[in-house]
Parts: sequence; C-alpha cells; structure tokens
Amino acid sequence: MANVFAFVESRGGDVRKAGLEAVSAARQIADQTGGGEVHALLAGAPGIAAQASRLAEVGADVVYVVEHAGLAQYDAESLAATAAERIRAGGYRAAVFSATAQGKDLSPRVAAKLRAPLAPDATAIAVEGDAIVVRHPMYTGKVIGALAITASPALLSVRLGAVPAQPNAKAGRVETIQPAADPGASKVRVVELREGNKGKIDLGEAAVIVAGGRGLKAPENFKLVEELADSFGNAAVGATRAVTDEGWRPHSDQIGQTGRVVSPELYVAVGISGAIQHLAGMRTSKTIVAINKDKEAPIFKVADYGIVGDVFEIVPALTQAVRAA
Ligand code: FAD
Repeated sequence: MANVFAFVESRGGDVRKAGLEAVSAARQIADQTGGGEVHALLAGAPGIAAQASRLAEVGADVVYVVEHAGLAQYDAESLAATAAERIRAGGYRAAVFSATAQGKDLSPRVAAKLRAPLAPDATAIAVEGDAIVVRHPMYTGKVIGALAITASPALLSVRLGAVPAQPNAKAGRVETIQPAADPGASKVRVVELREGNKGKIDLGEAAVIVAGGRGLKAPENFKLVEELADSFGNAAVGATRAVTDEGWRPHSDQIGQTGRVVSPELYVAVGISGAIQHLAGMRTSKTIVAINKDKEAPIFKVADYGIVGDVFEIVPALTQAVRAA
C-alpha cells in the first residue's frame, strides 16, 4: 500500500480540469498499489481552499492547501520548492503532475530538486509488479514508449484527457501549509497573463473540438467551423499551423507539435491533411472524425469516422444534423 501525491493546477481561483485529472490519476495508482491515500497540493491566492471539496470528490484523502497573495499567478520557484518539500515529507510512491504548459515547467524542477525520475506526458498508466509503467508518445507520436519506474518517488506528468476525472468521494481532509519559498522572492515572476481565447472554451478543457485546416481556403470560411462547434454547445475551435501561420486564426488555436496537445472526447478535423506534426497534438483524442476531399489524406489513418467530400457541402449539413439531434 502506497500513498500518492498529486499537484493540482488552478487559475483565477478555480481548479482546472487538469488538476482534477491529476488527482484521478493519483487515485488510480494508489488503488492499483493496494489502496493507499491520495494527497493533493492545492496552491493559490487566499480563498483557494474553498476548492478543496472538488478534489475530495475525485479521490483526494488529504488536501494540502497553500494560500498566499503571491500565488495568484503561477510562481515556478515557490511552487517547485513547496511541492518538493511535501513529496519528501510524504514519502510517496509516486507524484503526479499535469502535462500542461505549467506542468511541463514545474515537474522537471521538482524532479531535479528531488533527484527523482520523471516520466513526461503519460497517456496511460499502470502498476505492474514493483514498477509504475507509463506509456507516452515519442517521435511526434510515431511510437508509444513504455517507461517502467521502480524508483520512489516516481514523478510523472499526465496528458490532458488521458485519465478523465472520475467521481470517487473521499474525506478530503484539509491541512494548511506554508510555501517552502516566499513567492515574492522568486527570480522569475509572471507579470501579466493575456488570455488569447478570452470568453471562449479553452482547448484543453473542451470535450469537443472542431478544428479547421487550409482546406477551408479563406479565414472567413472558419465561420463553418464555428457554427459546427456552436451546434455541439460545448465545443472549442482549433486550427492547424498552416492556418495560424497564415494569420487566419490566433496562434493560441494551434494544435500540434508546436501548438496545444489535446485529447477531447470528440475531435472533428475539417479540411486538415493530417501532417505528422498536427497528429502529434490530437491523435490521442477519444473519437476522431475527419472531413477531407482527398481519400488518401493521412488524417484518415487516425480517424474513427471519415467523410470523403467537400467541406463546403458536408460541414453545413453536419451542423444542421447536430442541431436537429
Ligand atoms: P494542408 O496540408 O494544405 O491540407 C489541407 C487539406 O485540405 C488537404 O488534405 C486537402 O485535401 C483538404 N482540402 C482542400 N480543399 C478541401 C475541400 N474543399 N473540402 C475538403 N477537404 C479539402 N502543423 C500543425 O497543424 N500543428 C503544429 O503544431 C505543427 N508544427 C510543425 C512543426 C514543424 C517543425 C514543422 C516543420 C511543421 C509543423 N506543422 C504543424 C505543419 C505541418 O507540417 C503541416 O504543414 C500542416 O499541419 C498542414 O496544415 P493543413 O492540414 O491545414 O494544410
């Protein structure tokens, strides 16, 4: 039986979906190692403690809360010091982070402080004997590597959507702790956060993503993609790099190797060829639907459902059908 640590991401006083998923992934490891406890670390500005009950709902036995005005924004140095101190004190078998932009910055810092192994960007986790086996895409997703970590603590970061947050109510006992390093004293500070997608559903949080490529021909035709996204009610709009390079959509919409990595329940690719660099950002989506007029387009190799046809005919018909459903 082993206890497992989870680092919980929050923004603007709210726990992010990635944070809930980190707790669920930790729960999965704890259950597979004989039912140990999950200890979550939740840090933010004063008031963040109110979010602790959400972590209990997905399997946290203990929530360590750090409240500090200096943690209203991400503070790498202070959070890395605090997480490392907690992991050291807790003697955990594993420590789970999110493979988000923030988690990819934080987890190596913590691993370096602890001189512990880190398996990044997990898409599947299993406990096999003494080892925690982490599967993760390598070489832009051409192969899936399996890392078996026998050392403790095993640090890992989990790709968004890889371990969906599951209801699993636990006590969620709250303990307030102090930051191990003063947030105000960090050498690096976030001075401003500009939200590229203000008011829109974040790509990482969306259950459904409708993404458009160069097959849409012109920026104004993205309204077809937006209308299809609207018809689902809760969908976000994404794009290929060809599109963001053209300036048709903001860079924050880009999905792929040099954009966002997403794993929604449903990914609809509209006029996208399926270049390897695009697939690197979306191939782990649960269900992929592709619309392309070229039946040889590589996107069809990863698609669960493929529609060979003209986006200008198919997408409006699909939008109507989804609205009517
Ligand atoms: P295209 O490849 O031009 O494909 C357009 C598709 O639309 C074609 O398959 C065509 O058959 C179809 N089409 C055309 N008209 C219609 C129609 N009327 N109806 C239906 N289908 C139609 N790309 C990314 O997306 N994300 C990344 O993060 C990324 N990072 C990269 C990093 C590096 C280092 C490099 C070298 C490249 C990267 N790229 C990335 C670019 C990538 O290689 C491709 O160029 C890009 O993904 C292609 O975008 P696309 O599918 O929109 O365009």
